[in-house]
Amino acid sequence: MNLILLGAPGSGKGVQAEIIIENYKLAHVSTGNILRKEISEGTELGLEAKPYMDKGMLVPEDLILRILGKELASDRCSNGFILDGVPRTIVQAEALDKILTEQGKVIDRAIYLEVGENTLVGRLTNRRTCLACGKVFNLVGQPPKVEGICDSCGGKLIQRDDDTEATVRKRFVEYENKTRPLLEYYSRKGLLFTVNGDQPKTQVFSLVTKELDSLRK
Ligand SMILES: [Zn+2]
Repeated sequence: MNLILLGAPGSGKGVQAEIIIENYKLAHVSTGNILRKEISEGTELGLEAKPYMDKGMLVPEDLILRILGKELASDRCSNGFILDGVPRTIVQAEALDKILTEQGKVIDRAIYLEVGENTLVGRLTNRRTCLACGKVFNLVGQPPKVEGICDSCGGKLIQRDDDTEATVRKRFVEYENKTRPLLEYYSRKGLLFTVNGDQPKTQVFSLVTKELDSLRK
């Protein structure tokens, strides 16, 4: 089973990806992790990508797509995969379709975790990040044992500028605008499955399971 996972930052995408992977034994494919893998293994593609990563520059799209193609063809993905953070644009979606066609594969579902703007604001503005080790807490869902102090390392917890209400609202609108064409693209192909992500994660997963299990029949 080959899946695409779409959802704004704070939609619970990371958590759902983890549960889906575990239950369906899929390979997790994100551009970040495949780029780092190619670089750490010192492959030809990795060597090509390294200078961009070292300088903090964007890796060119065609290089990312070549790395993606290689990954999707690998044994790790033979039982299926879940794409996370890619495709981001119609151009990438079309390129992905071409890659998959060449490999004799298809996308089975594009799962979209739809979350209301106010839910995201609630979740993200409660986020606190450890200055020292980067661990993330949530004042509502996963509070630190001692206020303002990291459970793991004793570091100071801060609210990142990214997690203030104004930034979250701005990012939400940007995400929606950027993602709408992709939703339409997969909807036209009859592959879009939208889940209401405002619900608890177990409920979200149970809806996803229902949909995915119906594909297997
Ligand atoms: Zn810490």
